[in-house]
Amino acid sequence: MDYEATDMKILELINRGQNTFGAMKTLLKLKNEELEKTLDILDQTKLVTTGTKTGLLGQKKIIINITEAGTKKNNEYIEMLAKKWQEMLDLAIAGERATLDQMIVDNPFLVNTMVFFGVTDLPTLSRLNLRFLLEGKHLCYECKKELKRFSQKFSVSDVRKFNFKLPRGMTTRDDLCADCFNKLPPAPMSD
Ligand SMILES: [Zn+2]
Repeated sequence: MDYEATDMKILELINRGQNTFGAMKTLLKLKNEELEKTLDILDQTKLVTTGTKTGLLGQKKIIINITEAGTKKNNEYIEMLAKKWQEMLDLAIAGERATLDQMIVDNPFLVNTMVFFGVTDLPTLSRLNLRFLLEGKHLCYECKKELKRFSQKFSVSDVRKFNFKLPRGMTTRDDLCADCFNKLPPAPMSD
């Protein structure tokens, strides 16, 4: 059985004791149907057990607990993420930017999932200039400041048009913020 990242996140929340419908929905920004679908899968594959408890006012409450198989699956998943993160660190250190970019194209939420599971964190990503790996974040190639939807952005073709020196390693997928663009030195003379 192949589980999706959302299934594993829900399993992890149950593992952390955040096992109420409300908590899971809020923390993962999920709709009822999505949550119910995943809980069904986790229940059928015996990674969790579900039962009901009657509350003080006689209302039924759903109680979800992780099983031993669930804990094992959860640990395996975290190990897999940690191994992948190490691979990504090695690639970053080796300057294999294209391979890293491809990993994110194939699996846009991979690093977000790693942050959720605590395999890496935002300060580490910032320190290593790897925040660009987070889905939904488009950062200035030079200063790594976030480029919002309406921020001014400058591409490789803008740099060429203004005859500025292209920052080392910048590709057509990258953009610069206005500050960094304005600070670029002129391109070296070529003949
Ligand atoms: Zn910048």
